[in-house]
Amino acid sequence: MKNKGIDAFLVNKPENIYYLSGFTGGVDGKLLILDDEQYVITDTRYEEQVKNEAPDFALLLGRFPYIDSLNAIEHKFEKLGIEGKVISYYEYEMLKKNLDVSLVPLEGLVEEIRMIKEEEELDFIRKAAGIGDSVFEEICLFIKPGIYEKQIADKIIFLLREKGCEKEAFEVIALSGRNASLPHGRPGAKPIEDGDMLTLDYGGFFGRYASDMTRTVSVGKPSDYLKDVYFEVLRAQKIGLSMVKAGVSCREVDKAVRDYLEGCGLGEYFVHSTGHGLGLEIHENPALSPHCDIILQENMVVTVEPGVYVPGTGGVRIEDTVIVKQDGCEIITRADKELRIIKWRDI
Ligand code: ZN
Ligand code: ZN
Repeated sequence: MKNKGIDAFLVNKPENIYYLSGFTGGVDGKLLILDDEQYVITDTRYEEQVKNEAPDFALLLGRFPYIDSLNAIEHKFEKLGIEGKVISYYEYEMLKKNLDVSLVPLEGLVEEIRMIKEEEELDFIRKAAGIGDSVFEEICLFIKPGIYEKQIADKIIFLLREKGCEKEAFEVIALSGRNASLPHGRPGAKPIEDGDMLTLDYGGFFGRYASDMTRTVSVGKPSDYLKDVYFEVLRAQKIGLSMVKAGVSCREVDKAVRDYLEGCGLGEYFVHSTGHGLGLEIHENPALSPHCDIILQENMVVTVEPGVYVPGTGGVRIEDTVIVKQDGCEIITRADKELRIIKWRDI
């Protein structure tokens, strides 16, 4: 806060509120952090919860947008940092109109600290990843021609929760055949057909931390073309994994993967970045993209997920979540990546 020239910081993003204070009701509250005082600002519904979850914070009760609460202590600060990318325009206007302090929009102050995980956080992410692996084994027994993509997605959600996740970390993706050429398409009313490649991308929250994995499987015998694409994507993914270690820039990891796919003539079909950070949110910094200069550091958590999407034909994506280490990375999604051919029995 001193470096940014502010003497108070208003925290809006629920994940940041939780990270700093332990308070889980952040959608209905804020933090106000001063030099030597810190407050959770929320309404009476959360009074007891704040005391339990955020004992290091004083409680300021009020009603959104908490102007009265802020007015009560505004004499204690002059420059109020706000989360410029998070705060709504309405709230900003209300603060501007009603507070006699200057507002300083900041970006990513807490997110920057959150990039490097502590051991306890890593354990939650490992646990979430392990649940994802176990879901993969089980969902493979469920897949057969005739069932719909949405049935598979719904079953994955059920399994994630049954095995201990609080909820899914994002909308489950289950896309088959030609639909799989949409990297983030929605699973719909398409029945799985014999010979389809099927992309499954999912993850769950465990202890409020996310994991993320993608596996592409073949339902019956794949076409020679998609089989070749699969092996090239797997090769690219392994190159990406081999690049991840402390001291390497995000851009370099992305470049190694991109160069490989370009060398195979598949570059034009790789339409997104190589990976992203994750933690309390499913997409965090750093991004393994051509535009990210961040240098990887020990205990950052990122995904490595190249994909090839050929319009009208289909797609392949393979994704792992990994923990950055000094001399490499710990791969925490461990489900098999050799091309899995789903065989089924018709009863
Ligand atoms: Zn994913
Ligand atoms: Zn991902």
